[in-house]
Amino acid sequence: MSEQGPQARGTTVRAALEAALAAAPEQGLTARELSAAVGIPEKDVAEHLVHLEKSLKAAGGRLVVLPAECLACGFIFRDRKRLTRPGACPECRATRIEPPAFRVER
Ligand SMILES: [Zn+2]
Repeated sequence: MSEQGPQARGTTVRAALEAALAAAPEQGLTARELSAAVGIPEKDVAEHLVHLEKSLKAAGGRLVVLPAECLACGFIFRDRKRLTRPGACPECRATRIEPPAFRVER
């Protein structure tokens, strides 16, 4: 097994994500900000966060999700399970959505 395998790479990425999230400001970091901080595609961030959330839980920590918000009507996506940005607002159908942000609590 090479150290460049996908598993080792994933572990390294998640460690970097966790470090970025632990140092995140009160308002959290979005997937875009995390992708820039860690050097992975924005579309891959949510999947890594799902795994990170599990390992944090096992270690007594918590991934804090600051929910997405519709910029048109102010609807807040509180009950959303997925960590990606919603495509459209269920209330007003607008597609200008402030993405969810994340940080880590221990
Ligand atoms: Zn809306």
